[in-house]
Amino acid sequence: MLRTHTCGELRKEHEGKKVVLCGWMHSLREHGNVVFLDLRDRYGITQIVASDTLKDRLQSLKRESVVRIAGTVVAKPEPNEKLETGNIEVQAQTLEVLGEADTLPVDYQDPHITEESRLTYRYLDLRRPDMQHNIILKHKAALAAREFLDKEQFVEIETPMLMRHTPEGARDYVVPSRINQGLFYSLPQSPQIYKQILMVSGFDRYFQIARCMRDENLRMDRQPEFTQIDMEMSFVDEQDVFDVLERMHAHIFKHTLGIDLKVPFERLTYKQAMDRYGSDKPDLRFGLELVDVTDIMKETEVQAFKENKTVYCLNAKNCAEFSRKKIDKLNDIARTYHTKGVFWMKGITDGPLAKLLDENTARALAKRCEAGEHDLLVVIADDWQKATTALGHLRNEIIKEKELQPTEPFKFAWIHDFPMFEWDEEEARWDAMHNPFSMPREEHLEYLEKDPSRVHAKQYDLTLNGVELGSGSVRNHKREILERVLKVMGHEFEEATKKFGFMLNAFRYGVPPHGGFAVGFDRLITLMCGHTDIREVIAFPKNKKAQGMMEGSPSEIDKKHLKELGLHLNN
Ligand code: ASP
Repeated sequence: MLRTHTCGELRKEHEGKKVVLCGWMHSLREHGNVVFLDLRDRYGITQIVASDTLKDRLQSLKRESVVRIAGTVVAKPEPNEKLETGNIEVQAQTLEVLGEADTLPVDYQDPHITEESRLTYRYLDLRRPDMQHNIILKHKAALAAREFLDKEQFVEIETPMLMRHTPEGARDYVVPSRINQGLFYSLPQSPQIYKQILMVSGFDRYFQIARCMRDENLRMDRQPEFTQIDMEMSFVDEQDVFDVLERMHAHIFKHTLGIDLKVPFERLTYKQAMDRYGSDKPDLRFGLELVDVTDIMKETEVQAFKENKTVYCLNAKNCAEFSRKKIDKLNDIARTYHTKGVFWMKGITDGPLAKLLDENTARALAKRCEAGEHDLLVVIADDWQKATTALGHLRNEIIKEKELQPTEPFKFAWIHDFPMFEWDEEEARWDAMHNPFSMPREEHLEYLEKDPSRVHAKQYDLTLNGVELGSGSVRNHKREILERVLKVMGHEFEEATKKFGFMLNAFRYGVPPHGGFAVGFDRLITLMCGHTDIREVIAFPKNKKAQGMMEGSPSEIDKKHLKELGLHLNN
């Protein structure tokens, strides 16, 4: 090693020791005829004191140059409380320049640095202690997950990156084949099909910390490539998957943040989540539950309440102070989610809704919603899905607007019992709400062809603090039921066979019942680090236009290369 210690290691007990440290020149301060250098590496900062020629040489170097310093540890008369090494400093005797830095193109420590600069000069951005903390926490969490899963008999198995297109919901990234011109590989949206095939092969329990690629429009919690803790288990039902995942998360939290998670996690059916929070990924750390007031409102003479199937109310606690402008904003949000807007009243006498209702009804409504004079009642009449969804978004807005404080830092919840299908308005057909590989509930099989809307699947999501962390299902391992599901979705079996027939074929030769899950690993770490943007926990993320700004990707390829691939571009 070029060093005897790291820059975070020296303490009072090292006093008098001769040491050699290596690191980056973090900052330099002149004081009389000495300079103080903060020498930094991943482990911390150590103060170096230099005088005479060493002082001059250090002063001639640019910030962030990499140097090697030999010297003696001395006790600091006035300890620096801010540094873990603050009780000592190193009196420099020799200096060797290992990597001289040019003037930095950006000040990477500036809290106002632009997103573009951060991503373009990611090698500098990653020097920031909080980025190093995030990336190292991610490593520790992966290690904890591996350790836990290994003990539970899971086997880590790699699956191909170059595969064929499968209908998983998102758009694939494709790779042209040079050897098979005119044909394309797809990059995996997830290892879904392979992991199911591994169950057919008898591995019993599989996991992989897997890279997944989806060509989607990007948001804060989406990247074109991301990581999942992907898993699959044989001979299990929903509860078994829940149990393993709960204990895995408890293990990860304990071994990275030292936090004891409460297990089992709360479980809500999709219907309960929508009824109570208007979302299939509700943040349960805030009360503000929706209330079904259909029966009360149906009794009134108000046309909107009479003609709509459901009427739901949100008691915005202590929001009677909201200005007209804020209430208009709530109305606009409700309209964005395809409703005709909100009815509202403050207490039981103030606001348009109070005027529409007789006193008894207003009282009954307030009582049902446990509302007092400081509260704002927001009512939406529409079909169940639209009314609850819109109120769910209003709930989030109110949490944000009132800056409500969560009751606890981390709250996991399972959302399960999802509808198998949803109606795709554009294509005028039923589509799988998650993917076609989930097992419909046995008791709903009779409705598969008659009324697909009544069929629920053994499908579940895990949420953390209102963010969908991942999803999974007990799989549909019965060819005959899969065939029926595909028909409902308008895929003729033949057509489906072309796309993932290899899995259906595998199912013919002895398939165990199986189920699994995939945890969005970047999202998990983002929440553990207290961020909202997954780029904070990915070393080399893409920008919002799916470009790698540091390396300049995607990039053109030359004509010769295109020709080899048998590709011709039109422009
Ligand atoms: N492959 C699914 C996904 O990526 C997860 C699963 O069902 O295991 O969402």
